Amino acid sequence: MLANHANLLRSGSALKRSSHSFRRFFGTHEKPVCEAAQPGAASRGNQPYDKRLSTNMTNSKIVQLLHVQDDNRVFVDMADDESNPCLSCGACCQHFRVSMYMGEMASSPGGTVPDELVSAVNPVIVCMKGTEAGYGRCVALRGVVGKPGIRCEIYPLRPSPCREYRVWLEDGTPNPDCQRLRKNIGLVPLKPRSAVQGVAQC
Ligand code: SF4
Ligand code: SF4
Repeated sequence: MLANHANLLRSGSALKRSSHSFRRFFGTHEKPVCEAAQPGAASRGNQPYDKRLSTNMTNSKIVQLLHVQDDNRVFVDMADDESNPCLSCGACCQHFRVSMYMGEMASSPGGTVPDELVSAVNPVIVCMKGTEAGYGRCVALRGVVGKPGIRCEIYPLRPSPCREYRVWLEDGTPNPDCQRLRKNIGLVPLKPRSAVQGVAQC
């Protein structure tokens, strides 16, 4: 779901490149790439940014929609259907400190994250409330962690660390951080992307 989460930040690459967040991520030219569940599935004519992700996609189950930013960061939107394991997990949203450059706040030009949902870390960095010290639940998380219906209240507005965090890596294998966090809350391991059953949403 998120993308990720003391100074733990989502995905071990932490602080997760909050320096990159210096750049505004809206208003940039994006090249969306559909990532399907089945090998051999489907590019829709979008300019592929990475052949490892887009090779020979056919009409299959889209489970991750990738948006390549001008600075080559890749933002991910998950399908809003049963193929999305985040909708019954949420483990990462109560584990990492979710930090971002303050320019991602809605009050900044191009920013999206509601100001009232962040805490100051230092003069230029903020983090999602609840995650300040790590191992805390993000204020935007709704539902019961590990149960169906868990969701991010601000998904379309979420910060860049959450957008960059990936359930499945480029080769289709599950994110090891997801596997570890899911295990911590008693969920079964994720399957490879190629084994996911879902409905095309792209
Ligand atoms: S599957 Fe991974 S990204 Fe999704 S909510 Fe769980 S830990 Fe987070
Ligand atoms: S903003 Fe949304 S996706 Fe990001 S940590 Fe909070 S609940 Fe999770």
